[in-house]
Amino acid sequence: MTLLKRKEGSAARTGTSRLAGTFERLAATTATVDRRGFLIRAGLTAGAGLIARELPLNVIAPAAAAENVQTPAPGKTELKHTVCSHCSVGCSVDAIVQNGVWVRQETAFDSPINMGAHCAKGASVREHGHGEHRLRYPMKLVNGKYQRISWDQAIAEVGDRLLQIREQAGQDAVFWIGSSKHNNEQAYLLRKFVSMWGSNNTDHQARICHSTTVAGVAQTYGYGAMTNSFNDLHHSKAVLFIGSNPAEAHPISMLHFLHAKELGAKMIVVDPRFTRTARFAHHYVRIRPGTDIALVWGILWHIFENGWEDREYIAARTHGMDEVRKEVAKWTPEKVSEVTGVPEAAVRTAAEMLAKNRPSSVVWCMGVTQHHVGTANVRTLSILQLALGNIGIAGGGANIYRGHDNVQGATDVGPNPDSLPGYYGVAEAAWKHFAAVWGVDYEWLLSRFASKAMMEKPGTTVSRWFDGVLEKNEFVDQPSNLRAVVFWGHAPNSQTRLPDMKAAMQKLDMLVVIDPYPTMTAAMHGRKDGVYLLPATTQFETQGSCTASNRSIQWRERVIQPLFECKTDHEIMYLFAKKFGFANEMCKNIKVVNNEPVIEDILREINRSCWTIGYTGCSPERLKLHMHNKHTFNPTTLRAESGPCKGDYYGLPWPCWGTPEMKHPGTPILYDLSKPVAEGGLPFRANWGVAYKGDSLLAADGSATADSEIDTGYPEFDHVFLKRLGWWQELTPEEQAQAEGKNWKTDLSGGIIRVAIKHGCAPFGNARARCNVWNFPDPVPVHREPLMSPRRDLVQKYPTYDDKAAFWRLPTLYKSVQAVDFSKDYPLIMTSGRLVEYEGGGDETRSNPWLAELQQAMFVEISPQDALNIGVQSKEFVWVETPTGARLKVYAMVTPRVPQGTVWMPYHFGGWWMGEDLREHYPEGAAPIVLGEAANTGWTYGYDVVTMMQETKVSLCRVVRT
Ligand code: SF4
Repeated sequence: MTLLKRKEGSAARTGTSRLAGTFERLAATTATVDRRGFLIRAGLTAGAGLIARELPLNVIAPAAAAENVQTPAPGKTELKHTVCSHCSVGCSVDAIVQNGVWVRQETAFDSPINMGAHCAKGASVREHGHGEHRLRYPMKLVNGKYQRISWDQAIAEVGDRLLQIREQAGQDAVFWIGSSKHNNEQAYLLRKFVSMWGSNNTDHQARICHSTTVAGVAQTYGYGAMTNSFNDLHHSKAVLFIGSNPAEAHPISMLHFLHAKELGAKMIVVDPRFTRTARFAHHYVRIRPGTDIALVWGILWHIFENGWEDREYIAARTHGMDEVRKEVAKWTPEKVSEVTGVPEAAVRTAAEMLAKNRPSSVVWCMGVTQHHVGTANVRTLSILQLALGNIGIAGGGANIYRGHDNVQGATDVGPNPDSLPGYYGVAEAAWKHFAAVWGVDYEWLLSRFASKAMMEKPGTTVSRWFDGVLEKNEFVDQPSNLRAVVFWGHAPNSQTRLPDMKAAMQKLDMLVVIDPYPTMTAAMHGRKDGVYLLPATTQFETQGSCTASNRSIQWRERVIQPLFECKTDHEIMYLFAKKFGFANEMCKNIKVVNNEPVIEDILREINRSCWTIGYTGCSPERLKLHMHNKHTFNPTTLRAESGPCKGDYYGLPWPCWGTPEMKHPGTPILYDLSKPVAEGGLPFRANWGVAYKGDSLLAADGSATADSEIDTGYPEFDHVFLKRLGWWQELTPEEQAQAEGKNWKTDLSGGIIRVAIKHGCAPFGNARARCNVWNFPDPVPVHREPLMSPRRDLVQKYPTYDDKAAFWRLPTLYKSVQAVDFSKDYPLIMTSGRLVEYEGGGDETRSNPWLAELQQAMFVEISPQDALNIGVQSKEFVWVETPTGARLKVYAMVTPRVPQGTVWMPYHFGGWWMGEDLREHYPEGAAPIVLGEAANTGWTYGYDVVTMMQETKVSLCRVVRT
């Protein structure tokens, strides 16, 4: 189906060069990527190769991208090591730079993560080095038109206005939306920047992709992250993919899974839509959207019924499984089938495949997380893996594939409204820890905030910032409504309820975009003035570390100097900090060169502060060494077998304990008792006390990491525990001076951690994983119907939560939304997902001519029967109308991939507004090549009851002819 044919953009092609050094071989064998080469390259991998074969070839139009051929001038040629910025798999890219121009890219055959493979997005990242559709200089909206201004004017005008708002309405009247595409250092610096501005009103993309994972997994096991690695799937005997479509969303990860499949691993895919991943499954389970808890409890029902659970593991390493058993007992096969729509036999088959092919792994993504019960969904899967004894072993694990390239790292150390870097929270002790690290007085830091209460109150979330503008002030749990918003590397169309967002944009005093691309923000606001666009560089125009989904931290080298008038994000932070008067405090430990805080110094500050998650051993020097010695790491174990990194795991997957001098190798598999802590082993974290209602929360006798001198459960280490054990004297006098009165998280010397690990112990204790999270709304997860459920009979039986008053500073509705039956007027279930060609809100990738050719128009997938009923065929425009009153003009794609009664849309499009093409509203030349309706223009209300995640995987709509 050729929908549109684009001729915009150009991609340079160069001749093969004679290159010196290690990449000469590559140069000889791998010519510059032209269109044909690009398509082949994009299909080089097992995963991506399959994807290339599965591409909807009928939407590929003839290429225009390769027509513009460049011939590089002879001169200095360099190889720069970098990492693809389009997803969290972390594929390396070798960039060839001639005379400062990025002329070619290679696929990094020596990376243990991608082993010479890229998907279409990774194969075309060089387009960032051309920047045809980028912002080129600062701009301001004047009478509805963007006008060029200087950086000096931009910093002065934006800074003055923000200071004025701060003066009039307080620090919390500004909302700072950070980025999951910032590197770790920029993400960390932004959290520090906002802290010194005096607010917790900051957030980023993780809120709306995996905040429920972080909360659910952390509260069950101890850390909110993927437990194993993509590579470790080689060891799996069965894998359950649920709400995850890696063939499109994480293509190169499939390289590793398909290796396991070749060795005999079973593959189960649970998804409402028959995805490209489902195409390869041994067992495909089509689920009704929003019923994951019922399904997982149904699987566990068979496991308990047949005695397939790992009783020894449960007894030694978990707490609360008996309460889970009681809830699971209610989910008989018949009941599961009634609620989920899955045949009884299919549920049993899934249970048997997982139980009888151990180690078995579970992979989940946003199909699980983006629900108003997202945290509970996550917890059911976390518990399932505990019941099977699959956590802490090779081939098992909760493998949670994150989205953006650094969403894991930005979550770990970046702009979160409820935490300082390293998940320290925002209580007084956390602020005192960071005041010490930053070298500033706690009282000064406190004076920057409106009050101590506001300093310790979690901020608003990115999913709801516009309600912080529009809501009546009496219902907003902060002194003033929001009056200015800074989008610092974030796409607005990744959030729901866009008409409400637009209304909020119009009400703001000022709207600022800092980004390499204008994003849909620049075009959708409908304002005449008060909008500024400030051009930031991409990650290829700076250097720094980024954390892949498996917790490996990789160092990107600067490929090219900033294009046009773009500045790095950390330089922009520094310029604003200067304007606001706290640049000296922000950079007390950080050297500044030409207004740019030195990235290595920022990472060293992270190393000195984030003890909680072991971001302390990963010095810039160690990370650079790994990047340059990728070839020495084993692609299955990720361990270096020779060379200068010998014994380390690739990218020092966190926690990488202690100081860099301790040379901890990183932790490839979380909670793995088979290794000493010093070699990457870990128990579950003692993060919720030592007992609950008389039950011990510490691990059973005999359950400890290899070589542990304490062969039973133990609490987290602090100065008192160390003294009781008689190990205090092993600290040096300098360490003792710093560690006195501290625990392993706040001891800036690292001595407590060093001594604990020396004795084979985990600094955070040795506990049981929690199946009962008593501090959550549902301590044991229970099924609750989606807010927009068409099953009104089940809404009565499985209702949602009561409305909440002040939740992340805003009132939040549950029952009052669910009470309205929209299904009569909007009879189709609506769900959404990802395409292989695009990423996130799509501004970068839709601006890339190579990718734009592959997906040229927004569409809705609709079943043949529904299409027949409506009287619509593929290639015809339809209106998708939702209960918000919004309507989206999109192409129909009639396909049995979706079942009757359900439609699916990709969420990467933007730049149309309910049928209107907004191209002329972008700055001249800066609109993406492909525009289309944003799925989220029509998306409805619904937020997770723990994290404020938006409910974007199940809603209602109707489809009508145009
Ligand atoms: Fe690898 Fe993801 Fe980039 Fe594709 S988008 S090349 S899978 S990092």
